[in-house]
Amino acid sequence: MPAPASPSFPDFRADFPILGQQVHGHPLIYFDNAATSQKPRQVIEALIRYYERDNANVHRGLHELSMRATDAFEAARARAARFIGAASPDEIIFTRGTTEGVNLAAQAWCARHLQPGDVILTTGMEHHSNLVPWQLAAQRNRASLRHIPVLDDGTLDMDALDSLLDGPVRLLAFVHVSNSLGTINPAREICARARALGITTFLDGAQAAGHMPVDVRGIGCDFYAFSGHKMCAPTGIGVLYTRLEVLEEMPPWQGGGEMILSVALDSSTYKAPPARFEAGTPDIAGAIGLAAAMDYLDGIGLEAIQAHGEALTRRAWDGLSALPGIRLLGPRQSRAPLAAFTLDCAHPHDLVEYANTRGLALRGGHHCTQPLMRRFKVPGTSRASFYFYNTEQEVDAMLGILRQAVEFFGG
Ligand code: PLP
Repeated sequence: MPAPASPSFPDFRADFPILGQQVHGHPLIYFDNAATSQKPRQVIEALIRYYERDNANVHRGLHELSMRATDAFEAARARAARFIGAASPDEIIFTRGTTEGVNLAAQAWCARHLQPGDVILTTGMEHHSNLVPWQLAAQRNRASLRHIPVLDDGTLDMDALDSLLDGPVRLLAFVHVSNSLGTINPAREICARARALGITTFLDGAQAAGHMPVDVRGIGCDFYAFSGHKMCAPTGIGVLYTRLEVLEEMPPWQGGGEMILSVALDSSTYKAPPARFEAGTPDIAGAIGLAAAMDYLDGIGLEAIQAHGEALTRRAWDGLSALPGIRLLGPRQSRAPLAAFTLDCAHPHDLVEYANTRGLALRGGHHCTQPLMRRFKVPGTSRASFYFYNTEQEVDAMLGILRQAVEFFGG
């Protein structure tokens, strides 16, 4: 087993059974964490425990198992509220993930608040998940979009913010941490500037939650969406945090069981939030797994996780910079734990396939940020993204594989 990246940071790999395997005859190096993280035994066992002991539908049963399942599901909501510093569990809507959270807000909030001629402000570095739903909302409501430009160093053009916020801007939606550049946006400052003008703020926290401390009230945002699967929880579960005052004004976005107070043949009345936004049987096991993941991550400490990711990224960045024909994207300092780059000698897909034959899992492509790729005039990039179970030895092994790749492709 490789040694930890720094003497002060413990090795958590034993908690992750999947990491112990060989791929194509080489020890697996999993550097695709920005796409999805691996799951520790503690989360897997929470799922097994739930299905072996407590499985039942929530909220509608008076029998023992249903009450246990309901208690665990609602405890998970309270756990999620604590994890991000929400004022109340009622501000937590369970979703399938970040994408569903954006779509929920883009439909429900925009239905009530977006008028013809209004503007939604986003940025040039959004994941398609935090762009396309706003485009659809703008089309439905005859509104339009504006975008905060991305500077050459991969940061947002903060000097342009005030003029972009001027006019009929109703909502500002932006990514907390860029999945393609690693940029950590100054969320608190941006939200403060929007709030001063009465503009609602929506943050895409897919790459931030579980990787750094997140405090939604400290940030001062109205919405914050994230996905469980990128932070050690199962796929299929996520959270949309919404400030209660904002939530209470929103109409339902999906109809069905669980979200109603009473139903007549021609009309219905709806429950208060968050139930109003959770039609149908939810992902009960997913929520329980998410709570287990939050316990696990808080047990390690988000500050420590972030510091370890920074150490790995510095090491990767220094090593990558020495490769001939490399171009690294995003800011050098205070960045998320990922390195995205192009190599003159190989297309990202060819490089990622080469790495795969050595057991190294990278990701290559546009990373669901096509406008950003166009902005930087690249077809795509190769991306190595790290999490707390990765080690310096793995980073060094990656650098060795990439040096061989440069020779192989004739760089
Ligand atoms: N936003 C960002 C910044 C992401 O990195 C991702 C996923 O990669 C998403 C949104 C979408 O997340 P999900 O597919 O879990 O809904």
